[in-house]
Amino acid sequence: MRGPFIAGNWKMYKTNAEALRFVEEFRKLFKPGGTRVAIAAPFTQLYALDSALNDSGVRLAAQNMYCEDEGAFTGEISPVMLEELGVTYCIIGHSERRSYFGEDDALINRKIHRSLGSSIQPILCVGESLAQREEGVEMEFVENQLRADLKDVEERDVPQITIAYEPIWAIGTGKTATPFQAQEMCAHIRGVIARLYSKETAGKVTIQYGGSVKPANIKELMGMEDIDGALVGGASLDPQSFIKIVDYEKY
Ligand code: PEP
Repeated sequence: MRGPFIAGNWKMYKTNAEALRFVEEFRKLFKPGGTRVAIAAPFTQLYALDSALNDSGVRLAAQNMYCEDEGAFTGEISPVMLEELGVTYCIIGHSERRSYFGEDDALINRKIHRSLGSSIQPILCVGESLAQREEGVEMEFVENQLRADLKDVEERDVPQITIAYEPIWAIGTGKTATPFQAQEMCAHIRGVIARLYSKETAGKVTIQYGGSVKPANIKELMGMEDIDGALVGGASLDPQSFIKIVDYEKY
């Protein structure tokens, strides 16, 4: 459901010991409030983090999952396995999965369907490359991604999906989309959902911006009408910087 939602994406960083040290420090700084907070950790940390985050108000997220419950899929992790570890959210279709691991919209669509049939809520990532933005086709590209990734998804399930707009040119580059560029695309995404389903459903969808979010720019981004939250990579690795993003109203 729509509402402020900040998720950290730790990517392939931190050992278990480092993850537990982060939680110990973050718990001293964090007081649960109106903002939903999640950490998307590597699979190897989920078991330990489930108990370390117990009663903290911080939800556990995974960074990927496969679209079958079990089977001969060497190296994959299923939603059933994630459910057992207390995972609430799963990032699906991150641009790094799309570009380095060849995930296409058809696979991402299968993952979205599978997560909606489980208790794992998807955070679906979409976003254009620098070349596409320079060509001026970013709106069309993101619309096509959404249409393909949400193919045959029922309207009643749509509010369970968080959509993260992550322009590829802004991820890990230090280049943030301007609040105007981010708002423009997030409004476009809401408009696409309204056309695919209804205005009412579009109004219930949480849309995050992701791409070099840091303490210095979060407040302005969160002030935009269609930006309900952020997916944060690099700046979520340090408790001191992540708390300033989570508690953006205080800092
Ligand atoms: C991400 O990994 O989703 C991301 C947005 O990374 P960064 O904040 O480091 O750009």
